[in-house]
Amino acid sequence: MSEKITSAPSCVDPFDGESISLDEALIRISERVVPVHACERLPIRECLSRVNNEAVKSPHNVPPHSNSAMDGFAVAIDSLGDGGITELDEIGTAYAGVPFEGDVARGQCVRIMTGALIPAGVDAVVMQEQAEVAESGKIRIDADHRVGENIRQAGEDVRKGDTVIDAGVRLSPADLGVLASLGIAQLQVKRKPVVAFFSTGDELVAVGEPLEPGKIYDSNRYTLHGMLSRMAVDIIDLGVVPDEPQAMRDTLESAAAKADLILSTGGVSVGEADYIKPALEEIGTTEFWKIAIKPGRPLTLGQIGASVFIGLPGNPVAVMVTFSQFVVPAIEMLSGASLRRPALFNARALDSLRKRPGRYEFQRGVATLDDNGEWQVGKTGKQGSGILTSMSRANCFIVLPDVVDGVEPGDQVKIQFFDWSL
Ligand code: AMP
Ligand code: MG
Repeated sequence: MSEKITSAPSCVDPFDGESISLDEALIRISERVVPVHACERLPIRECLSRVNNEAVKSPHNVPPHSNSAMDGFAVAIDSLGDGGITELDEIGTAYAGVPFEGDVARGQCVRIMTGALIPAGVDAVVMQEQAEVAESGKIRIDADHRVGENIRQAGEDVRKGDTVIDAGVRLSPADLGVLASLGIAQLQVKRKPVVAFFSTGDELVAVGEPLEPGKIYDSNRYTLHGMLSRMAVDIIDLGVVPDEPQAMRDTLESAAAKADLILSTGGVSVGEADYIKPALEEIGTTEFWKIAIKPGRPLTLGQIGASVFIGLPGNPVAVMVTFSQFVVPAIEMLSGASLRRPALFNARALDSLRKRPGRYEFQRGVATLDDNGEWQVGKTGKQGSGILTSMSRANCFIVLPDVVDGVEPGDQVKIQFFDWSL
């Protein structure tokens, strides 16, 4: 497109006035999505990335008993006197898992290993590097030590009855470790949402088939499959659906019977042979939106029975942008997870970026750290919504809010790293 045409007044675009904002679109999606209710009890290893159903309270203290943080000598500080060196009798050894059973009296000490229970009668562990074994076999320790030294107190990590993992948390590897440290072998988590997806368009050919004139390969199902595979959802690939009313209706109906969320790409821009709208209106409800974002302006939200339908645009980059901004939060809501805003980082622009005010833009960038450890970001070539290589070369979106009117090198911008996982 030439300079002249892109800078034409906005009245050439009849939809500008009807656009809704990104936030408004998110609110409307949240009003429609009902979190999955069903739960399952699973061994904790299978709970990774799943959503915790009920707050987990600790059944006991962690660590359960006071133990040594170091290899050294367990002593009573009282034994050490006010100054100078004290010689103590070593009366035994405490190993991790094999405690020293007796009492430690004044003038005595016990050799102790990291993780071993603190024997009765002592209140400090002196590191072995700070003790000396005399020729007589006695243990020589100076007076420069304090009560509690090198002792991990019972309950120091977690106290019995404390909430350790809230409901709605998506479980991380560290959470699994915390559960294991409490002896919890199984946990109740929300079931995974089921997400079905398909592409629409008579121009689409599946990979592996020859490309006839006027046809293009279907790439959207591959990006969608990739992004969904990184999330804790079950996925159903329904293939390419032709631009034909009966086929569209059948696909939507069978998808609604199986899936909590149905995604399509293409067929939602105004003015084209549009089969999604009549099919949806027949078997469910639908809203067609123009969202004030670029790329990704047309989007459809619908409902078929209990299933939510999100019709994404057809352009490959717009699919990935709308997925990151709308589908990821929709899946979070559906999963019963507590909502998070995407993490945005400040970065210094390396390039000038063209932008008109009025819309949120998600340009594709490569973010790197500069010599001062600060983020800097450059763009990945042409930014057309069909240019998928602009995504595959990028590692982040350069997020330009509606008010921004172009960016010059050196300006501060916000970036959102690609992260299709939850
Ligand atoms: P549509 O919204 O259906 O008009 O599609 C917008 C643009 O995206 C058109 O140029 C389509 O050919 C292209 N497109 C739609 N679906 C796909 C797909 N699955 N893979 C690649 N390009 C697509
Ligand atoms: Mg189409």
